[in-house]
Amino acid sequence: MSYNIQNIEPDRLSILLKVGMRLAAERNLDRLLDMIIEETTAVMNAERSSLFLIDGDTGEMWAKIAQGVDVVEIRFPVGVGIAGTVGKTGEIINIPDAYADPRFNPEFDKKTGYRTRSILCVPLQNIVGEVIGAIQVLNKKAGMFGKDDEALLTALAAQASVAIDNADLYKKLNELNLSLESKVKERTSELVRANERLSALNKELEEITITDSLTQVFNRQYFMDRIKQEVKRSHRYGTHVSLLMLDIDYFKKVNDTYGHQAGDSVLAGVAGLIKNGLRDTDLFARYGGEEFCLLAMAMDQAGAELLAERLRKKVESAEFVSGGNRLKVTVSIGVSAWLPEIKENFEELVRRADSALYSAKQEGRNRISSSPRTGSGLRST
Ligand code: GH3
Ligand code: MG
Ligand code: MG
Repeated sequence: MSYNIQNIEPDRLSILLKVGMRLAAERNLDRLLDMIIEETTAVMNAERSSLFLIDGDTGEMWAKIAQGVDVVEIRFPVGVGIAGTVGKTGEIINIPDAYADPRFNPEFDKKTGYRTRSILCVPLQNIVGEVIGAIQVLNKKAGMFGKDDEALLTALAAQASVAIDNADLYKKLNELNLSLESKVKERTSELVRANERLSALNKELEEITITDSLTQVFNRQYFMDRIKQEVKRSHRYGTHVSLLMLDIDYFKKVNDTYGHQAGDSVLAGVAGLIKNGLRDTDLFARYGGEEFCLLAMAMDQAGAELLAERLRKKVESAEFVSGGNRLKVTVSIGVSAWLPEIKENFEELVRRADSALYSAKQEGRNRISSSPRTGSGLRST
């Protein structure tokens, strides 16, 4: 059944438009249902209104109704009572005396302590014409519900249906948004974790690329990179820096007598022994074969000679155990100090340490040699 909107009085029509606008703006379904009931009661000049929705999951009709000061939810099958019948058939029911109609279910009255006289109930339909519920007004304050009331309530129901659909859609959108948001959060924290793992791996990789695998001290490449920078820094700030070049004496004999594996463990042992007593700023590396380099920051030649002598003694007095053998080795050490007044480059510093080492070997090994030779002194800081 369709009603011409022109049949509605201009006054009521303008109220209807205002109500429509208010309803369209409400996105919260509970508040919207309350608002529909409130507006309908006023516009229809009725004592009460109720709004029933069909629960798509259970096929029941449900409504929130006032029971004293409480609001309770009632549920009943579609087809039961006046609203249930409208929900089922989609047809308007307009009855002047509820108790004379066999479809009327007096249970509601009993529950609510209310006395129903006249009822006008119209279907709520969605945009494709499916019945989604019913809206019902009770006890017109003056007289009975007429055709104009039917037209007005039908128009109200149409607006209410659109607003309910919108609110429902909005709720679904909101839920989708929330689940999207939590998925994004989840993915973000997964990414953060993956990034942390990646930077930990990167750090490990970095360490691997700058570490000598046998002795676990820095490798030659890293040492060369750093010595370049450190000498530049000393150049800029006029600070001291010294280089010690260490070579194990007669190491070939160790390999020849005890085997390559024993040689390896002596190499690792000597490296560990020297590394142990160093300062954090000292840069110690395996330069190649059985040769090591130590760059001592903020140390002048005299300090470097004392350090070299201390390291020489340390190795001399140590014992390295491998395969049940107790092995002893000595080292020769060449020392060169960077001279602020000469401002030489790092290659020159390396070359002088190397030739000092050669001298130490020539002079009989297990000793230190310094280039150029100066008296002894103390480590400067
Ligand atoms: P010098 O006192 O003149 O330094 O005599 P040396 O025998 O120590 O010197 P030489 O250069 O003749 O021999 C060095 C030996 O070091 C030869 C080589 O096999 C050994 N070597 C180099 N790298 C390694 C290594 O990684 N492991 C083992 N086990 N031996 C190594
Ligand atoms: Mg050697
Ligand atoms: Mg050598």
